[in-house]
Amino acid sequence: MQFDNRSRRSKILRDVNEIKASNSYTFTSVGESNLCMYELAPKEEITLHDFEDIASHRLKALRKIEELKLRHEKGTYDDFLASMTKELNPMFEPCILHKTTKDEDRNRIRRNDVIGHFALRLAFCRSSEDTKWFVTHEIELFRYRFQNETKSAIMNFFKDNMFDAEMVSQSEKEMKVEELAASYGLSPDQVRSTDIWEMDALDAVELVRKRKVFLRMGKVYLPYTSLITIIVQRLRSIINGAMARGNRYMGLIEEHDRLLPRLERLCKGGYGGKEYSATDGHTISRHQIDSASSKFFPLCMSSCHSHIRKNHHLKHGARRQYGLFLKAIGLSLEEALAFFREEFTQRIDSDKFDKQYGYNIRHMYGKEGKRQDYPAFSCASIILNNTPAHDDCHGCPYKHLAEDDLKSRLSGSKMKNENIAEIITLSKMNQFDKACTLQWELRHGQEPGSLQSTIVHPNQYYELAKEVIGVVKLGV
Ligand code: SF4
Repeated sequence: MQFDNRSRRSKILRDVNEIKASNSYTFTSVGESNLCMYELAPKEEITLHDFEDIASHRLKALRKIEELKLRHEKGTYDDFLASMTKELNPMFEPCILHKTTKDEDRNRIRRNDVIGHFALRLAFCRSSEDTKWFVTHEIELFRYRFQNETKSAIMNFFKDNMFDAEMVSQSEKEMKVEELAASYGLSPDQVRSTDIWEMDALDAVELVRKRKVFLRMGKVYLPYTSLITIIVQRLRSIINGAMARGNRYMGLIEEHDRLLPRLERLCKGGYGGKEYSATDGHTISRHQIDSASSKFFPLCMSSCHSHIRKNHHLKHGARRQYGLFLKAIGLSLEEALAFFREEFTQRIDSDKFDKQYGYNIRHMYGKEGKRQDYPAFSCASIILNNTPAHDDCHGCPYKHLAEDDLKSRLSGSKMKNENIAEIITLSKMNQFDKACTLQWELRHGQEPGSLQSTIVHPNQYYELAKEVIGVVKLGV
């Protein structure tokens, strides 16, 4: 086994040296098109700070795409595209590369596009769930950018990426108009006004296999929608293949102190602080949760708690967010099972609870599946991942609640109106951590700005609250 690792390591070293020695790759030599298939990794050396910075920027864009997809789940694709243009373009320069005219800016954006993609590939290749998430949102990003390209830019893209595709001339289209119309369920007039692309059938094997394409003499003739399907299929297979290789080699990267913690942080949504998975000897029973919630819980967790007490149910996202938080404040597995069972069985029978939810709770405690000791979610992870739908109770209230709902949630804690207004202003400025910190200070009778740290984790909020109020006095 050791021998195997050694030979793999020397192969990586050989590859690295080959890449460094090759003069064929620079950011300006990958072609003139705005898009690329990310087949060649960048060979340029960059600082770790830039690496992390560029990767976090791209990650924010992918999270935004996730958020917009969820928001438009039941809407039309056109509405989704309109939101992408409105919200993604201003925050992510590669989306406006096709409008960028200065060479200097174009090269910088293209460079960051490639570095960001490869950095995240590395960060997300370590588990199949992460890989799946990354590939899904990268493909959505590519699809969006592709449809903003002009025809001449698409031709450039084909040339740079060796797609043998050409747009069919009007006269040739006229000769095949009937067959094309029948193949794609279009009227002859629609075919005349649509761009049709000709491609080698070997590049469209999947569509040929599914008989979804007009094929003649080794060539396929495709409208735009089918064309993008083929390109996206090839891109997906390139990324998946590279990430599977990355996963195999990850164990051999000797970067335990520098690169690996950064990749870890990227995956966790930018949180690099203390992990809360088990308690330092403190325990809490299920009978103490009501009292603890009213005194020590941040708004995100007291919302989940009120919801389960009122509705006797929590959906998956909230169960995980709240369940892992409870585990990290010292609720044992037995107590957690009893707590959720007592609530859920007010609506379903005990057998159903065991079958549907018992496994899930044991899984959080590392007793099922991969048997991993899952840590509680940080604020970054709650804010960036798994955006709640309108009927969900998880998420961060400062980020995910509408202003009126947040106001009424804060009013419940007997806070003065001017303080509530201040917290809401911070939330509106996307300073969720500061809003939460200010709420913590006011709730615990502290001067604004007196807490020496910013709240970045719900369990940190809980610990600080316990410290300031005193455990003994409250009996929790
Ligand atoms: S900032 Fe963090 S601790 Fe505060 S409510 Fe949001 S997720 Fe919870």
